[in-house]
Amino acid sequence: MGNNGMKSQARVVVIGGGVVGVSALYHLAKKGWGDDVVLLEKAELTSGSTWHAAGLLPLFNMSYSVGQVHKYSVKLYRELEEETGQPVGFSQVGNLRLAMNDDRMDEYYQYAATAKTIGIDVRFLTPAEILKLWPMCNVEGLVGGIFHPDDGYIQPADLTQALAKGARARGATIYRKTAVLDIEQTSSGGWLVRTDKGDITCDHVISATGNYARQTGAMVGLDIPVIPVEHQYIVTEPHPELVRRRESGEPEMGVLRESDGSWYLREENGGFILGPYEKGAPCCYVDGPDPRAEYELFQEDIDRLAPHIEAAMSRVPAFAEVGIKQVYNGAIAYTPDGNPIIGPAWDLDNFWLSEGHSFGITAAGGAGWQLAEWIVEGEPTIDMLGVEPRRFGDYATRNYLIEKNEEAYANVFVIHYPDEERPAGRPLRTAPCYERMKEMGAVFGQKFGWERTNFFATDGMAQEDDWSFRRSKWFEAVRKEVTNTTENVGLLDMTAFAKCRISGPGAEQFLDRFVANSLPKKVGGLTLAHALNKNGGIHSEFTIRREAEDAFYLVSAGALQRLDHDYIRRYMPKDGSVQFTQLTGAMGVLVVAGPKSRQLLQRVTNADLSNEALPWLTAQDIVVGMAPVNAMRVNYVGELGWELHHPLEYQNHIFDALFEAGADLGLKPFGIRAMDSMRFEKSYRMVGTELSIEYSAFESAMDRFIKADKGEFLGRDALLASRDAGINNLLVTLEVSDVEDADALGNNALTKDGEIIGRATGGGFGFRVGKSLALGMVKPEFAEPGTEVDIEILGKTYNATVVAESPFDPKNERLRDVGSANE
Ligand SMILES: Cc1cc2nc3c(=O)[nH]c(=O)nc-3n(C[C@H](O)[C@H](O)[C@H](O)COP(=O)(O)OP(=O)(O)OC[C@H]3O[C@@H](n4cnc5c(N)ncnc54)[C@H](O)[C@@H]3O)c2cc1C
Repeated sequence: MGNNGMKSQARVVVIGGGVVGVSALYHLAKKGWGDDVVLLEKAELTSGSTWHAAGLLPLFNMSYSVGQVHKYSVKLYRELEEETGQPVGFSQVGNLRLAMNDDRMDEYYQYAATAKTIGIDVRFLTPAEILKLWPMCNVEGLVGGIFHPDDGYIQPADLTQALAKGARARGATIYRKTAVLDIEQTSSGGWLVRTDKGDITCDHVISATGNYARQTGAMVGLDIPVIPVEHQYIVTEPHPELVRRRESGEPEMGVLRESDGSWYLREENGGFILGPYEKGAPCCYVDGPDPRAEYELFQEDIDRLAPHIEAAMSRVPAFAEVGIKQVYNGAIAYTPDGNPIIGPAWDLDNFWLSEGHSFGITAAGGAGWQLAEWIVEGEPTIDMLGVEPRRFGDYATRNYLIEKNEEAYANVFVIHYPDEERPAGRPLRTAPCYERMKEMGAVFGQKFGWERTNFFATDGMAQEDDWSFRRSKWFEAVRKEVTNTTENVGLLDMTAFAKCRISGPGAEQFLDRFVANSLPKKVGGLTLAHALNKNGGIHSEFTIRREAEDAFYLVSAGALQRLDHDYIRRYMPKDGSVQFTQLTGAMGVLVVAGPKSRQLLQRVTNADLSNEALPWLTAQDIVVGMAPVNAMRVNYVGELGWELHHPLEYQNHIFDALFEAGADLGLKPFGIRAMDSMRFEKSYRMVGTELSIEYSAFESAMDRFIKADKGEFLGRDALLASRDAGINNLLVTLEVSDVEDADALGNNALTKDGEIIGRATGGGFGFRVGKSLALGMVKPEFAEPGTEVDIEILGKTYNATVVAESPFDPKNERLRDVGSANE
């Protein structure tokens, strides 16, 4: 055969025989592709990171996507032994997380909200209840804890073998000792995978190569944002009390996690396993492991473990009474935010990634499930934004990854505040006005590598953030920014927006079929339009300016640059009739908004900015000072205003011109948090929360942006079919009563008479209406304004009332500027 007996063709080739790759193979086989899927492993199954994992299956995760993925895995693993006959060693001992302070409890409450809405069983415990579950625990200094009865730990190698058995039983093929050396695109759009045993052509490739992710990526020109970090755990000698408990048939104690001490502990053969997440753990395999590496461990570093060993000893005194049997120090794959990347690679067709897994034993099941859905059905079925490979961009270079991945590892157990911003690798991408903003008191956050102002510290306030699950110091700063913007005029730097141009003779036809709204007919017209997925859910949101008959300027969320632009590229005709031009780094954006914004702008431009000359939802090329500007009359805060898009090099000229002209008008800068507060008052949705592929565009109540009768567009048929079948959810705006110091953060359970009827997708305080607001998805029968529901915020239940959309200025009079005299 010339191919060492190996198949020469397959529908899918999975590279990597760790638990993640084998699970992908298993799920593809389960979808009916068994006879046509092949897995290639250069050594033995599990010989990468999988064999030495501690096997914990924590359901806990702050991300909605990861929560869903983990939940699926735990359920699957429970059933796998029965299905395959291969024991997987699932010990469902439960999982106990301790809290040593109130902020940690807030984190657990916020997590529990997500858990509740996705159906994960989590219980709150007092210190006395903790003692009952974990009699060897010293509960001093604890304020409480949470318990997951459904998770525990598993034997990773056995799990992998069970998945392999299940895959083989459905016809899938596994070639061990077969190394992939190179991958080439074939002229027919498929892939040629070259191995040391021969070549295979296939339609799809899945890269699940663990610590080799960057080397595999390099074969196809991808810079994959994964570099592993060293991770250790300690196995101890047996302890008499644990042995006694075992012998007397007492139940095994659950996996114990002291988040504030950054370690976990579980029983193992009458002794303990202690796993810390240390500070200072270095990245490893920065330029890849040795291609021949298998079952590789590093020299242990006891000094790094010491503080965690001490913390564990004081929490579980018995731990001090046992000797260390062995220390495992292995590579654990990481990404800058600690979540894996699962889904399509960017800029390539049919190349899939399931890489960067730091909880790969836990995530493998769900990752394989969604990848198989995506590949076989064309779309995932859950919102995968939190694990999207395209959530990172070009900025995630090798040296950035070293800093960020070490930081992500060291921060696994920190309190995951909703407004947390991490310092490593910053500042990296800065707009020209960055220094000016800083001098004005800007407190920055980072999105997609860009520094963006979250808020301004003024009037003697320390120029630093104050993270919390509740209203904190920046609440008053944001109030001032909103007040000034709504009374005078504010300026917001939105240079981080993703921008591009779609042009060419086929541009109009392509875009018209790509988005659900009608395109602006007139040159200079603006519209908000959505690209749906094939199932009619919302994938991307664009502001589109028609620049010419055959050219359109598209703006979308900065954090989604790679995702949105890759999505465009996937659907663009390949015949050269449409061109894509990346403009993100070339164009800056300053938003000027507020009732005096026209007056201000009119002082620095000769262009006529009147309602007649430049109405709401139109754009014009104007000159500000001496700089060319594309002035688009839209904004995300609901005031009269313009987004001033300009070639980046003019930014400070424009910035200075505005501030020189605006002093007596009260021009002041505002930040992202003020913008966010104002968007809730306008019921403006955001991709990733209110807009998601899990909800149809009608469920997100985007009807006015859907032109179902304009002809074919992406997702149209499925969207209409879903409406005809009856929608399951509807987006509502909620007014939350009697909150004291905390607003909804999103993922809060919405209940009626104790039954879950929906979830809040986001929330905050609306300073212009003086109310705590939330947006949420509810069953349609609860969507009528006036309906009263309950909302859970940080463990407390509040009354919330459904209100009409856009509590602030529902008729958009401010945006339209009706009635006010033109300057
Ligand atoms: C000390 C330690 C403890 C851990 N504990 C836990 C835990 O308790 N719970 C948990 O969920 N996770 C844990 N993890 C993480 C877990 O081990 C990983 O997330 C998981 O094993 C990743 O699986 P994988 O399949 O992605 O990678 P791997 O298991 O590394 O598999 C990748 C495979 O790809 C193969 N490969 C690479 N390149 C090629 C090529 N070119 N051709 C062919 N084959 C190739 C490799 O040989 C390897 O077998 C732990 C990790 C460490 C280091």
